[in-house]
Amino acid sequence: MTQITHAHEAAGTRLQGKRCLITAAGAGIGREAALACAREGATVLATDIDARALAELEAQSGSIRTLALDVTDPNAIDDLVRSQSGFDVLFNCAGYVHQGSILDCDEAAWRRSFDINVHSMYRLCRAVLPGMIERGRGSIINMSSVASSIKGVPNRFVYGVTKAAVIGLTKSIAADFVAQGVRCNAICPGTVRTPSLAQRVAALGGDEEAVWRSFTERQPMGRLGDPKEIAALVVYLASEESSFTTGQTHIIDGGWSN
Ligand code: NAD
Repeated sequence: MTQITHAHEAAGTRLQGKRCLITAAGAGIGREAALACAREGATVLATDIDARALAELEAQSGSIRTLALDVTDPNAIDDLVRSQSGFDVLFNCAGYVHQGSILDCDEAAWRRSFDINVHSMYRLCRAVLPGMIERGRGSIINMSSVASSIKGVPNRFVYGVTKAAVIGLTKSIAADFVAQGVRCNAICPGTVRTPSLAQRVAALGGDEEAVWRSFTERQPMGRLGDPKEIAALVVYLASEESSFTTGQTHIIDGGWSN
C-alpha cells in the first residue's frame, strides 16, 4: 500500500492564533483534521459523541481540548457556542452513511440521515456565524462527498441526497456572508480508508476482501484516500492560504469523479 507522508506533519504556524471547532473528531477524518490543525498552531476544540475516543485524542495530542457533543442535539450546540469565546474556523465533519436505494430508505432512515448530515450543519453554522461576522473573519468547512450532486453512487441514496444538500447549504452561506469576511467551502472526498468504512465493510458480511477490492478498483489511482490527505485540505481551507476561495466544492477523490 502507498505510504502517505506530508510535509505539514511537521509542526507549523499556518493556523497560529486561530480557534477551531471540529465535530466528529473522535475518529477518521475529523480526528486527523484536529491533529493537523493543532500541529499548525490552532487552538482546537475537538468534539464527538464518543467521550472515550476524545480522551484518547486529548492524551495523544497534549494541546487539543475536547468536549462531548452530539450534533443532533440543538440545545447542546447552543450551550457549547454560548460558553466559548468565538471560533475562527468551524469544521462540520459529522456524517452518517445509510446504505441502499430509495426502496431501502424508510422515513426513519431519511430523517436520521438529514438530522446528522444536514440539520447538524444548519445548527452549528447558525450558532457560530454571528461571532465570525462580529470579528469580520471566519472559515466554515462542511463535509460533503463525491456521492452528492457531483456523482450518483449506487446504494447511497439518502446519503447522496444529504451530501448534495450540504453543497447547497455551503454555497448559500458563502453568498450571504462573503462581504463580511466569512468564507464557507465544502470538501467532497472519494472513498477514504477510515475505521467507520472498515466497520461498514465488516457489517456487510460475506467476502470482505472482494468488497475492499471493489472500492479500490473504482479508483483510477488504484488506492483509497488517507484521512491525512483530507486533513491537509482542511488545514488549507482553514488558513489564510485559501483566502480567495469561498462557496466551492473541493473534490479530493483520487480521480474517481473525473
Ligand atoms: P465516521 O463517519 O465514522 O465519523 C467519525 C466520528 O463521528 C466517530 O468518532 C463517531 O463517534 C462520530 N459521530 C457519530 N455520530 C455522531 C453524532 N451524532 N455527533 C457527533 N459525533 C458523531 O468517520 P469518517 O469516515 O472519517 O467520516 C467523516 C465525514 O466524512 C462524514 O461526514 C462522512 O460522510 C464524510 N466522508 C467520508 C468518506 C469516507 O470514505 N470515509 C468519504 C466521503 C465523505
